[in-house]
Amino acid sequence: MKRFTRAVAGLFTAVALAACQTAPATGTTTDLSPAVDWVANSPEWAAEAEAMYALAGDYIETISASRAEHSWAVILDVDETVLNNVQYQIQREAIGETYSSESWHAWTAEKSAPLVPGAKAFIEKVNALGGHVALVTNRLDTEQLWTEENLADVGLERSEDFRVLLTRASPVKESDKSARFALVPAMLAVQGYPDVEVVAYVGDNRHDQPSPIGSAKFFCINQGGMYGTPCATKPQPVSN
Ligand SMILES: [Mg+2]
Repeated sequence: MKRFTRAVAGLFTAVALAACQTAPATGTTTDLSPAVDWVANSPEWAAEAEAMYALAGDYIETISASRAEHSWAVILDVDETVLNNVQYQIQREAIGETYSSESWHAWTAEKSAPLVPGAKAFIEKVNALGGHVALVTNRLDTEQLWTEENLADVGLERSEDFRVLLTRASPVKESDKSARFALVPAMLAVQGYPDVEVVAYVGDNRHDQPSPIGSAKFFCINQGGMYGTPCATKPQPVSN
């Protein structure tokens, strides 16, 4: 969190210096929207994320006890679930802008997003307990390599930590993840792991789970409503 605080302070110092000829500078994090400010600066955000991942970890510990090694998988979203992009939001708000696909593309090229607290320990736990990790994201296929490099930079490597990373294609930009969720067991099957059951989903958006979800559980990270359709207000498994 110190890193964010320093980054925010530096950013607003720059903005304040640029604006000082025309208006008094405020230069505080109160300039941020409440959701972005909460994720960037509140210890509660990290604590809630870690609590949710702890719950998910407890769940897969129980699930794995009655399942053979490599017979089960967990599917995670990437943005605001594994990688924390609040710095992108801060940059946009500092210039009075919101999300755009062009600025987002540039942000992913920077490959500088840090981890959501709790994500790495959870992913390591899934692997240690004999599960597969699959990542299904609405980042574009043109951003996949940068995404994989960003993940590697924060210690999440293909094969060792995750076995599947499914982006979406441009220009179709299909945001519904249902078809990709359904494809994960088939991808694992052709990689030598037949009959894999997806036992849990982790995301920050109501659509980071299939509908219906069947017997699997969905764990949702609270991102304060920065974007999308958030689905958590406190750490607990979420159902449709
Ligand atoms: Mg997300």
